[in-house]
Amino acid sequence: MKPAPFAYLRPQSLPEALAALAGEANAKVLAGGQSLVPLLSMRLAAPSLLIDINGLPGLADVTVTGEGVRVGALARHADVLASVEAGRVQPLLAMALSHVAHPTIRNRGTTVGSIVHADAAAEMPVVLKLLGGSVEVESVSGRRTIPADDLYLGPLESSLHHDEIAVSAFFPALPPGGGVAFDEIARRHGDYALCGVAALVRLDGDRVAEARAGFLSVNEVPTVVDLAADLADGVTDAALAAAGETALAALDPADDIHGTAAYRAQLTRVLTTRVLRSAYDHAVATSATEGQ
Ligand SMILES: Cc1cc2nc3c(=O)[nH]c(=O)nc-3n(C[C@H](O)[C@H](O)[C@H](O)COP(=O)(O)OP(=O)(O)OC[C@H]3O[C@@H](n4cnc5c(N)ncnc54)[C@H](O)[C@@H]3O)c2cc1C
Repeated sequence: MKPAPFAYLRPQSLPEALAALAGEANAKVLAGGQSLVPLLSMRLAAPSLLIDINGLPGLADVTVTGEGVRVGALARHADVLASVEAGRVQPLLAMALSHVAHPTIRNRGTTVGSIVHADAAAEMPVVLKLLGGSVEVESVSGRRTIPADDLYLGPLESSLHHDEIAVSAFFPALPPGGGVAFDEIARRHGDYALCGVAALVRLDGDRVAEARAGFLSVNEVPTVVDLAADLADGVTDAALAAAGETALAALDPADDIHGTAAYRAQLTRVLTTRVLRSAYDHAVATSATEGQ
């Protein structure tokens, strides 16, 4: 099948792109095209106008500070993955990005595009939400920041308004005493996951001060569950198993063509336990290094 006919515009400035978007109710932004072009080809989307943002200046940077990593709207997954500084300040980025599709797709697909596409099977929306990040969006009316907690409304549905372009996403740095981990199960490496888990653990001395996990391909939206209570009395096998059950109780794994709800529930239990343990081990190592 071929896409339905559409007009194409490649603006050279952000104001030009925003004006075009505001002027056409059925327009769509085109970034890396790795999700949108297949949707067009299958006629699951039929915009009257494609606004290709690849010619806009100043949006391709990955900017790293002590506070975190800001990823511009035209930074490709591969650019973020290749940034040694980004990996140092927030190691979860590289851990998760290495599971996003294949190198050819990561060379073109943008991290911000993935975040606003709002696919519950994608890695980076969950990472943004777990870390408490945000997205900076702009329209002809001005700029606003959307916290990740307010970003995901439903399957493939974000809280961006039709006339807004996401200009960057911000991922907070690993906190002192913090550790992170990521793992997923997919039929083949690079496929969308049947279930994936990202975790963050923060230690205050020997005490677990924070522990939470984010889940992809389990609920209809990227979902984060607080698991600190299960680890309050120590990180034992029993406590980790209890955290797996707590996570499952807060989630709603469903059947689909890729797996049954029961299989997904079992993956959720196993991955939560495994990833939380790795994040804890990472936090212990981070704390030891900071103490030196
Ligand atoms: C074979 C294959 C396998 C894949 N596997 C995975 C995977 O395992 N995990 C995963 O996470 N992803 C996967 N992807 C998707 C890939 O990560 C895409 O890069 C990503 O989903 C979208 O980024 P994009 O830049 O290509 O966006 P596009 O396809 O250009 O756009 C996607 C949507 O977001 C909107 N959009 C994009 N950028 C902006 C912006 N700056 N402001 C406002 N709206 C915007 C578009 O209008 C469109 O609705 C896969 C893709 C393919 C083709």
